[in-house]
Amino acid sequence: KGPDPDLVAIAERMATVKHKILILSGKGGVGKSTFSAQLSFALASLDFQVGLLDIDICGPSIPKMLGLEGQDIHQSNLGWSPIYVESNLGVMSVGFMLPNPDEAVIWRGPRKNGLIKQFLKDVHWGELDFLVVDAPPGTSDEHISIVQFLQATGIDGAIIVTTPQQVSLIDVRKEVSFCKKVGVEVLGVVENMSGLSQPLTDFKFMKAGEHGDAGGAAEMCQEMGVPFLGKVPLDPQLCKAAEEGRSCFEGQSCRVSAPVLRGMIEKL
Ligand code: ADP
Repeated sequence: KGPDPDLVAIAERMATVKHKILILSGKGGVGKSTFSAQLSFALASLDFQVGLLDIDICGPSIPKMLGLEGQDIHQSNLGWSPIYVESNLGVMSVGFMLPNPDEAVIWRGPRKNGLIKQFLKDVHWGELDFLVVDAPPGTSDEHISIVQFLQATGIDGAIIVTTPQQVSLIDVRKEVSFCKKVGVEVLGVVENMSGLSQPLTDFKFMKAGEHGDAGGAAEMCQEMGVPFLGKVPLDPQLCKAAEEGRSCFEGQSCRVSAPVLRGMIEKL
């Protein structure tokens, strides 16, 4: 039996990508996508050529966070073209391919793996210094596939995002163990939403509709007849920017504390 043609195609596609970094988290909602975007913008601001690939099939957040919802993906004879949010930062998300953002994606493993494979095979990134891959939360089928697909061409490693709380930290252990088992280096763990970016007095409970969207969770809860318990932000600026779909624009690129990013980038 010869080599798997898909793996050969992925290897060819990835031949122009110097570094591949997987962003993982044990749980959803800890800021993995936010961090993936932050890191991508930070790398791009250092003049690297960067690709941000969002393969969180069940909850792709990157299009919303970067204000790219509803964008059509163009295909050329070279493959699918990423959407450029900076001249040196291209973005590709499974969200661009899914028909309706409100509809649950209830695919079984093989179909998810097929889409991930296609993404790795068919997106025309060109020459990249870094490909930042925003993976789904947890350690599921998809993770094994991503690693398997990329390993043929070498993965630099994974960055694991967590919040300071035990419930998230417990799952980090699983992510670390996963990385060990599949032979992916852990580049580091990032503690997101750790401490407050401003004095406590500057924080307030955000009200529905405060960020220009027509309702938020409270309204949705009302709609669905379920209780709304309220929410407490940690960095109101970052949160607001993501809500408004301008996550890292307008000089907000390096909101994740500079030393964390610098330390990581130096390690890569
Ligand atoms: P995940 O990818 O882990 O599911 P997200 O990146 O989608 O998490 O983040 C979940 C929510 O938390 C988003 O609404 C995001 O704007 C917000 N968020 C993430 N990090 C921070 C932070 N440091 N301060 C405030 N809000 C944050």
